[in-house]
Amino acid sequence: MNPVSAQLAQAGIEHYSDFTVKELSYFKIGGKAALFIIPNSAKEAAAAIKICAAHGMPYMAVGCMSNMVIKDGRINRAFISVKNGFSHIEKKGALGITAGAGVTIEELMNFAAKNGLSGMEFMAGIPGSVGGAVFMNAGAFGESFDKVIKAVYIADKRGKIRKIENKKGVFSYRKSVFMKKQCVITGAELKLVKSTPAKVKNRVKHIIELRKQKHPQEPSAGSFFKNKFPEYTAGRVIEECGLKGKKIGGAAVSEKHANFIVNKGNATFNDVVKLAALVKKTVFKKKGIHLKEEVRYIR
Ligand SMILES: Cc1cc2nc3c(=O)[nH]c(=O)nc-3n(C[C@H](O)[C@H](O)[C@H](O)COP(=O)(O)OP(=O)(O)OC[C@H]3O[C@@H](n4cnc5c(N)ncnc54)[C@H](O)[C@@H]3O)c2cc1C
Repeated sequence: MNPVSAQLAQAGIEHYSDFTVKELSYFKIGGKAALFIIPNSAKEAAAAIKICAAHGMPYMAVGCMSNMVIKDGRINRAFISVKNGFSHIEKKGALGITAGAGVTIEELMNFAAKNGLSGMEFMAGIPGSVGGAVFMNAGAFGESFDKVIKAVYIADKRGKIRKIENKKGVFSYRKSVFMKKQCVITGAELKLVKSTPAKVKNRVKHIIELRKQKHPQEPSAGSFFKNKFPEYTAGRVIEECGLKGKKIGGAAVSEKHANFIVNKGNATFNDVVKLAALVKKTVFKKKGIHLKEEVRYIR
């Protein structure tokens, strides 16, 4: 048993060695994580970080793995999954919700609708977790999650549990300070406005319908490149460059929405990376625009 595994076992933290992540990822691409750790509490997440750090083992938190392109073969990292131990959700005061990092956006929408709390219906249909959505500052229809975030709870790189208030500089478009913190987000406090269950439910339903019309159904990691408002949307420029349907191996630019790279069945990490490089090169040559990835490459 390697020393990280041995210490995790000693601390009673659930974990698996050489864990296949392909089937868990939305893209259905990826090899074996050196370690897959499933802490049951913020305390266990903090302990897992400390153990990995002490042994120089690179680590990262994962939620629903809907925004990742994971390399094939062995990945020399510990994946710290918040999908099991962080699924609490409750009302906080009249207008607040406290949600664990592992709560899915779908569960969050259902809870908000049931309690008649409005303000984040634009998030409906995003297939991630609260932790992933905080980290990515996910959003849609011109709005982002930070609009309703009051505070974020993390286990930091020293293994300390902290509360970070949402103030200037914490979030920007598809970015958060957590990208630089080597932390595990354990939960978030949200602030919403009063509405009625029926109104919130209808709005959520409407948004999900809109997304179904626009987005491809094949496995993907969502919007591949960032938009830059108001200058361009990545989908539009990729389409204008004639790249819809362009294929490398099992990866293709979606015919339905050009900012989605989809897995046609047996795409590899390299297929996706090569196709993304071709898209970027073509768009730069034809439009002078440098596209930047929204998805996270996990190497
Ligand atoms: C079909 C489809 C549609 C999508 N539509 C949208 C959309 O409309 N808008 C949008 O913004 N995104 C969209 N996405 C992308 C994705 O769903 C979001 O970015 C989502 O918020 C990611 O959450 P996740 O739990 O899947 O994160 P993961 O993919 O697991 O992780 C993404 C990043 O967040 C980090 N992370 C995850 N959880 C934690 C945590 N608890 N603590 C610290 N770091 C963490 C990971 O290390 C990784 O770097 C879409 C994806 C798909 C497949």
